Order: sequence, then structure tokens, then C-alpha cells
Amino acid sequence: MIRFALKCACGHRFDSWFRDNQAFEDLSAAQRLSCPACGGASVAKAPMAPHVASGPRERGEDEAANSLAVLRETLLRVRDAVEGSCENVGTAFAEEARKIHYGESAPRAIYGDATDEEAAALAEEDITFARLPWVSRGDT
Ligand SMILES: [Zn+2]
Repeated sequence: MIRFALKCACGHRFDSWFRDNQAFEDLSAAQRLSCPACGGASVAKAPMAPHVASGPRERGEDEAANSLAVLRETLLRVRDAVEGSCENVGTAFAEEARKIHYGESAPRAIYGDATDEEAAALAEEDITFARLPWVSRGDT
């Protein structure tokens, strides 16, 4: 038995088992294959099916996807912690961080946005801050 990743004319992807490649060719030629999603008989082998893992390279891709998901989860938790314990100063971050550093503002934990230039300037003035990858919630 051999499993092929298939694709219908409208782009639905699915897997199907065949006795061998010839069996697939025969069914295909006789239009006896149909898409389970739309019933379309125009079905061809899909060259790349991300959900069919059969080799080391593809397993590696799965792992990469997994660690990305884990990383995203971690970053979301960092974001929660920051939002829960720091004051959001938005785009005034660089200005506010500088004021706190020079004692012009009450010392407190803040977060917000800074441009690359602002971040570079802060670093030059020896102002302690950290840049975090900010992940958005709820997207896929
Ligand atoms: Zn279809």
C-alpha cells in the first residue's frame, strides 16, 4: 500500500491509500477519484503535503513548528507579566525611560514602543531597558 497526498481542482488537500502507483493512475484515468470535501473528480497528486511526515527533513519541520508554538506561548506569558506589572507609556517609552533614569520621573517599571533610533540612544546613555518580541494575541 502506498499513501499519496492528493489535491482537487479547488485546492482541497487530502490523503488516500492505493495498492500501488499504477492503481492510482488507473483510478485517476477513469475519474474514479473524488475529493472528500467537494466531490470534485479532478484530483491530482499534490507534490507537497505538509501533514505527511515520512522523512527526517519533514520531521524536522514539525519540530520547528512545535518550538515556534512553544516560543510564542512563552512570549505571550512574558507579555502578560509585563502588562500586569508595568505601566504602559506607549510611544513615550524612550522619553519616560530617560526621565526615570535621570530622576525626573518616579522610578517604576514601564513598557512601550521605541524606534530603533530611540533604543540606540537609550543604550548609549546607559539606560537599562530590554527589547521584547511583542507577540499579538489571538492570531494564528
Ligand atoms: Zn475539493
